[in-house]
Amino acid sequence: MEIPQDLKSYLQVEVDQWDVAHIVCIKCKKRFFTVRDAAIHLYRVHGVKVAQKYAET
Ligand SMILES: [Zn+2]
Repeated sequence: MEIPQDLKSYLQVEVDQWDVAHIVCIKCKKRFFTVRDAAIHLYRVHGVKVAQKYAET
């Protein structure tokens, strides 16, 4: 699971105890399964404008 370079200050990948990778919002620790879902969250909840282009695709 690759996090785009310009979202790396907002998101990180964490592997849980079942070896499932999640994308975690660094700001509020909410978990996501896709970059797109995480980008939508960053844009709508935290107002991160660089996330918008990933939320649309
Ligand atoms: Zn968040």
